[in-house]
Amino acid sequence: MDLPRFITIQESSHRIHNPITGDKLATLGRALNLAPGTRVLDLACGSGELLITWARDHGITGTGVDISTVFTARARARAAELGVADRVDFVHGDAAGHVSEEPVDVAACVGATWIGGGVAGTVELLGRSLRPGGLMLIGEPFWRREPPNQETLEACHADTRDEYGLLPELIERFAGLGYDLVEMVLADQDSWDRYRAAQWFNLRHWLDRNPDDELAARVRTELATAPARYARYEREYLGWGVFALMGR
Ligand code: SAH
Repeated sequence: MDLPRFITIQESSHRIHNPITGDKLATLGRALNLAPGTRVLDLACGSGELLITWARDHGITGTGVDISTVFTARARARAAELGVADRVDFVHGDAAGHVSEEPVDVAACVGATWIGGGVAGTVELLGRSLRPGGLMLIGEPFWRREPPNQETLEACHADTRDEYGLLPELIERFAGLGYDLVEMVLADQDSWDRYRAAQWFNLRHWLDRNPDDELAARVRTELATAPARYARYEREYLGWGVFALMGR
């Protein structure tokens, strides 16, 4: 049980595996007014940057769960580097169905709602770990513009147009699940570039060092095609944000 190696190569330099920058993550942490000691659960935490930097900046404590051994190992090293290893811990495992033993103050799933089979299922899953009145954080794509054709859907990793909504539709979806939207921090095209464009350097550096690896041909093809595809589709059509929700 692990993340495919292709993705860990592609995102080898990333501390945040989403189109949100460290600055935007810090903005979100400040916007939420997190009190010291706030308990946070982060499902599909990646390399743990949310928990680690918020532990440093706001004194939160927390647990991250992720299926990638590479990312969870990196999270532990980064927590030690920033001096917060006693406040956050990282568990390697499948986050689908993961419910914390003690209720938490903040339950997050940032950019991985497939673990609950979509937004509704992930809201339900996080709700099972959350104390009454707690805060839920969901990172999710939305359409910046109406996707005009099938190529756009495919390049934006959507099987159907309705897999995502336009921003107001996504917000209404949260409302329909019985939640108030109380904050949001959205990606922009620059923060998308920090996520996607940074992958190309990772691929190229890896390719130069590993020309005979079994993944080399695939990495070569990706590097040759991904930048234009990204500029044509994802950068134009796909928005992304972290949405803070409270149950009604
Ligand atoms: N929230 C993190 C990572 C987002 S990328 C961040 O914002 O940086 C998506 C993450 O989901 C990856 O780290 C991947 O390893 C993890 N993942 C995918 N399927 C998973 C599963 N079933 N259980 C736990 N983690 C999973």
